[in-house]
Amino acid sequence: MKNRQRSQHSNREEAPAPDGLVEGLIVDSSRGQYRVETPQGSFLCTIRGRLRKELEYPESAGARRSVRKVKVREKDPVAIGDRVALLPTGGGAGVIERVLARAGGAFTRRDPDAGGGSLTSVVGLDQLVMVFAAREPTPHLRLLDRFLVVAESQDLAAVICVNKADLGVPTWLRERLAVYRQIGYSVILASAEQGAGLDELLARLVGRVSAFVGPSGVGKSSLLNALQPELGQRVSAVSGLTHKGRHTTTGARLFPLEGGGYVADTAGIRALAVSSQGIRLDQCFPELRPYLGTCRLSDCTHVHEPGCAVLAAVEARTLDAERYDSYCRLLTGEAAMLDWDQIE
Ligand code: GDP
Ligand code: ZN
Repeated sequence: MKNRQRSQHSNREEAPAPDGLVEGLIVDSSRGQYRVETPQGSFLCTIRGRLRKELEYPESAGARRSVRKVKVREKDPVAIGDRVALLPTGGGAGVIERVLARAGGAFTRRDPDAGGGSLTSVVGLDQLVMVFAAREPTPHLRLLDRFLVVAESQDLAAVICVNKADLGVPTWLRERLAVYRQIGYSVILASAEQGAGLDELLARLVGRVSAFVGPSGVGKSSLLNALQPELGQRVSAVSGLTHKGRHTTTGARLFPLEGGGYVADTAGIRALAVSSQGIRLDQCFPELRPYLGTCRLSDCTHVHEPGCAVLAAVEARTLDAERYDSYCRLLTGEAAMLDWDQIE
């Protein structure tokens, strides 16, 4: 995954194409105009009409599989996070001629204006950075588990960042974090205030498109500001705007990081809807994967079935009981996949 992200997002080393086209990444969009960051600077672009038609009506080519894409692109034929080739037309303007690639981890959002059924623009996220505070507020690890499921289900990398480490990391939390590390997640202890962990965090952000998520008050803005002056203000200003009902269907904005890479505003992912339909929840818990397919029943849900390998591992304490509990709650619908009210 790393290599793919590098090649898509660190566009600095790429040479200009022989046909005069410049490659770049769409970082913002509004009313049919797209801001594209390229190695040659930023361009404000429209889309070539022919390309717009192609993207909006790909089913005319007879490809049955693209029906889903049609839905996604109904309103916006290209989306933030797409890599495109554009023709500069002078004065910082350009025309998008081709879509080269969609950024990894693209996910669909429910369109709030369309009764929840249809899919709208896509944010090219690679990574979710889940921020919690060591204290104040007390971390809510069930919420973390839900975020992790979202990340897994969308094939996004996940980073767990525990901020306010300067306040002291309680022993119970250290023990829980060890479980997440054991599963394979990156856990970064940080302090926006004192600078701890910031280098490690930055190293994880370079060359990727990340969104910072987590409850309010944990220090998301402070961390971003500590990484790059005013980045936190810029990201939260956009998020706040959208929050107040002026919901844009143009997708999230991406803010460039000085070291390469982007941070997406959280407004764009607030509307993220992940239904449990179509995803195998057990696949979204990486520590369960080695057991999958080894239960007696092929359609085992790992809750009560006889001969369940997962249950046996929980009983033997090979699998963490708390994480397993999160799995059960999500499976039975006791816990909503994501409760955005708890996030902001
Ligand atoms: P956000 O809502 O997640 O964006 O959180 P903010 O960045 O607004 O921070 C919330 C509060 O936590 C503010 O009062 C910050 O000063 C404080 N804060 C942020 N980072 C740290 C930290 O590393 N250590 C301590 N002690 N306080 C912090
Ligand atoms: Zn099972």
